Amino acid sequence: MNHYDVIVVGLGSAGSATCMALAQRGVSVLGIDAFHPPHSLGSHHGESRSVRRAYLEGTAYLPMALRAWELWRKLEKDAGEKLLVTTHNLTIGPPDGPAVSGFLASARAGGISHDLLTAAEIRKRWPPLAPPSHFAAGLEKEAGIVFPETCIRVFLAMADAAGARLQVDEQVTGWTAAPGGIEVRTSHGRYTAGRVLIAAGARARRLLGDAGAMLTPKRVPVHWITPPHATAYQLGQLPVNFWQVPFNDGVGSSGEYREFYTLPAIKPGGRVKAAFHNQLADGDPEHPSPVVSTAEETAMRAMLERFLPTLSDRPMTSDTCMYALTPDDHFVLGALPQNENVFAVVLAGHGFKFAPLLGEIMADMLEGITSAIDMGFFSPLRFVRRE
Ligand SMILES: Cc1cc2nc3c(=O)[nH]c(=O)nc-3n(C[C@H](O)[C@H](O)[C@H](O)COP(=O)(O)OP(=O)(O)OC[C@H]3O[C@@H](n4cnc5c(N)ncnc54)[C@H](O)[C@@H]3O)c2cc1C
Repeated sequence: MNHYDVIVVGLGSAGSATCMALAQRGVSVLGIDAFHPPHSLGSHHGESRSVRRAYLEGTAYLPMALRAWELWRKLEKDAGEKLLVTTHNLTIGPPDGPAVSGFLASARAGGISHDLLTAAEIRKRWPPLAPPSHFAAGLEKEAGIVFPETCIRVFLAMADAAGARLQVDEQVTGWTAAPGGIEVRTSHGRYTAGRVLIAAGARARRLLGDAGAMLTPKRVPVHWITPPHATAYQLGQLPVNFWQVPFNDGVGSSGEYREFYTLPAIKPGGRVKAAFHNQLADGDPEHPSPVVSTAEETAMRAMLERFLPTLSDRPMTSDTCMYALTPDDHFVLGALPQNENVFAVVLAGHGFKFAPLLGEIMADMLEGITSAIDMGFFSPLRFVRRE
């Protein structure tokens, strides 16, 4: 059979979850990926992703963050696998900066259990963290970490079990309008569907046609640091810690803030993960440059020296990940302006935590159902209207 209700292009974070949701609803779905997910050629590798509900990125995400948490727990039960480990999450910076104040606004609006800590309290409670005295931190007590590779394996296994057809190592090269919907061309053949979802992550630009021009692929160096001793840096001890540091604190020469984070070692004897969250270099997903330069490692060591000094001179290895950013750093979820039967999901560098919910939301959109959570904020049309 070469005709489906829905074709999902990309079986990474959003695509695999959408295939699962659609197949579980009895929709005939073909999922296609250029590689064999989970893999390290997109946005989803690197063993851990932070999950928060106090969402400083904006109030539109709050209902999504609350619902996604429930869905992770449901997925764990359905799959019989541990996917989400609860841990503390700190948002650290000047108390009046966008991160800490955004955290507090979201936590209060969502009734999320939290504390506001002084720098002295942070230092005392978590000795690896060394915020300057004028910093504060929003503490979300019940946040978490999910394991992205395992999650994608679970989404795909459950999609397969529910009847989705999943094809890997097959690249989608384009799509065109066809009678009754859309024709999708791949390295292996042609398929038709009533509707298509482009869930191609950092590589989505070309497949989105004119709408793809809004995306900027970013290359993200990720640093893995061997801590001086195990316990204080391990999941359950070291919280996820996100830092927003003003440039006038001496961390750079342009823009307002430099943002970085570290995640605890997942396993005993594991390594702490660190990466910058903004001011990233543009990347070329078709020709990735996986080698991390000495200058890039030095920039991270300089941050560690100031804020997690016990890690600054420890052994470090680095690799890269990539994602596509949108002009306003918010998700794009919805039908493309040029064809109402072709939908996009673009996650702008902070989307993994929502994966099971995105599966539901995109399945709703593809089925023409209005989601319980308002998705208007994320429409691709917001960029068209501005022109
Ligand atoms: C270093 C790093 C840290 C992050 N930390 C967090 C975090 O802590 N919390 C959080 O919530 N989010 C985090 N994110 C963001 C999150 O991981 C991404 O938003 C999410 O994984 C994006 O999912 P996606 O489905 O859009 O892309 P992907 O998961 O990359 O999936 C896209 C898929 O499309 C396939 N594809 C591409 N082109 C084609 C084609 N032409 N034909 C067929 N298939 C194609 C790819 O092979 C890939 O499998 C992080 C990202 C990075 C890079």
